[in-house]
Order: sequence, then C-alpha cells, then structure tokens
Amino acid sequence: MKPIQSELKAWMDKNENFKTNYTRIKKEILSDPSIQSFLHEHPELTDHDIEKHLMRLYEYKSQSKQCDRCASYGECQNMIPGYSPVLSMDKNEIRLSYEKCHSRIQAEEQEAQQKLLQSLYMPKEILEAKMSEVIQDKSRISAIGEILSFLEEAKTGLPKKGLYLHGSFGVGKTYLLGAVANELKKRNYSTTLIYMPEFVREIKGSFKDDSFNQKIDFFKKADVLMLDDIGAELQSAWFRDEVLGSVLQYRMMEGLPVFFSSNFDLNELEKELASTRNGVEEVKAGRIIERIKQVSKVVKMSGENRRDE
Ligand code: ADP
Ligand code: MG
Repeated sequence: MKPIQSELKAWMDKNENFKTNYTRIKKEILSDPSIQSFLHEHPELTDHDIEKHLMRLYEYKSQSKQCDRCASYGECQNMIPGYSPVLSMDKNEIRLSYEKCHSRIQAEEQEAQQKLLQSLYMPKEILEAKMSEVIQDKSRISAIGEILSFLEEAKTGLPKKGLYLHGSFGVGKTYLLGAVANELKKRNYSTTLIYMPEFVREIKGSFKDDSFNQKIDFFKKADVLMLDDIGAELQSAWFRDEVLGSVLQYRMMEGLPVFFSSNFDLNELEKELASTRNGVEEVKAGRIIERIKQVSKVVKMSGENRRDE
C-alpha cells in the first residue's frame, strides 16, 4: 500500500503545484492591458471561454504588437518575424491571427522601390541624385524644364519620348539622369540606367552565353531606359545594328521612352556611328539616329564644367 500512497501524494503535490502555477499564469495573462481591453470589448466571454483559449491569449500577450517592442524590422522578436498578432471573435471563439507589421510593410515597399532602379556601372552620387538638389541656373533651364514636364506627364502615364541631353563634359547630364530616375522610382516606374561603354563591354562579353538574350530583353522592356554617355565607344557595327538598333526599334514600336546623355549632338553622333571598323556606313548610322529621334527629344545643355567645383 505504501508505495501507492506516496506516489499519489507526490502526484497531488505536483498537481497542487500545477494548479498554483496555472492560476498565477492565468492572472498574469488577464492582467495584461491589451488582453484586458480585448475582454472589455467582449463582455459576452465567459470564464469558461477564456480558460478554453488561455493558450491563445498567452501567445498574444507574449508577442510584440505592431512593433511596440522591436526597434526595427531587423530586430523583430516575434515567432514569425514581421508579423503581429491580432485577437478577434468568431462565434464565441477567441481567434488569434497574424498580420504584417508596419515595419515589414515599410521594408517591403523600400525593397520593391530599390528594385525599380537598376543600374550598371553608375557612381553612387548619381544613384542618389535628387531633383530637389539640382542647382537651377540659366544653362540648365531648358533641360530642367523638359524634365519637369516629362515628370508631370508621367503622373498620368509614361510619356513616349525621353530626352537626348547633349553638351560638353561636366555640365551635369549624368547627374540629371540620376535625379530623373529617382523621381520615377517614386512613381513606381522601373528605370534601367547604364553607362554606355560598360554596356558595350558587358554585351560583348555575354554574346556567346545564355544571358545575352535575357540582357537584351531587359533593356528592351524596362519602363524607362537611360543610356549614359553614348558616343565614341560604338565602333562595332554589330553592336550598333544588332544591339542598340534592335533595342531602340523595340522601344520605338512599344512607345517606351529612352534618355540619353552624350558629349555629341545628333550630327556628331551620326558621324561617330557611321565610322566603324567596316568603313563608313552612313545609311545604317542614319537609321539609328532616326530611332533616337523617335524615342527622345533633343535638348542642349551648356554651362561650366561642374567637375571643377
Ligand atoms: P556630365 O555627365 O555632363 O559630364 P555630371 O553629371 O557627371 O556631368 O556632373 C559633373 C559633376 O557635377 C558631378 O560631380 C555631379 O555630381 C555634379 N553636378 C552636376 N549637376 C549638378 C547639379 N545640378 N546640382 C548639383 N551637382 C551637380
Ligand atoms: Mg556623364
């Protein structure tokens, strides 16, 4: 008999312990202000209902609610990072569900916006250029005016033509492209901004591999394409006709805008495009110039070389 008795007693002790613990935890849960306010909103809940879902209430209590205990999204302490618990009632049952927290939504929005500006070989200062920081002076007034009307039009839909900004070295052409790209990001348009000499190198390098068509497609289809510093690097007839020509042809047909920056005006560019290793090819160069005119509006920029400042 004895062993059974002592076992029973031990169990009772444990049980007593369990009971005390349970009561303590329950009290703790119910005294939580967020749970109290939930219970206050639902006076129909009986003690039995509450006891039945005590674990849910405990889980709710333990989690950070809409970032109230986390410094940032990266430091989220919840079971499912970035999700915040919500209590609700469903036919006298207490329900616990999770919704995205503010920090996660904000982080996702930022990430999506970041993806909107794809750039290749562009310096950081250009990628951070802001329209609000563009210094407006006489020499840039017409370029800035054209850009502002492009951006204004872009509020209702993407204009079919971008700009061909030409002028001498250092007048701020590339900087303006960066500033436009950042404005477009805010309007959820994707921009691909690329430094032309590297573009040529990149495409030539991938000519024989599978990524070639994928890359070309990427330039064809971006909402806005920006080709920075178009000019002297185009001695390859193949690149001029098969790559640049086909990208511009596609965008012209689809009505997608292209921005260019160049040290050459269109006449000078035409000469550059005509002189390839194959000799002088005026007709083919003329064809590219026609496409450039279809996808952009020519604007001259003058002024001093800002690189000296
Ligand atoms: P470009 O492309 O015409 O050769 P950049 O755009 O590279 O000239 O500009 C030259 C320098 O001047 C860069 O360092 C750029 O950050 C700065 N810059 C150009 N335009 C502006 C502007 N409007 N406001 C402020 N800084 C500018
Ligand atoms: Mg430049």
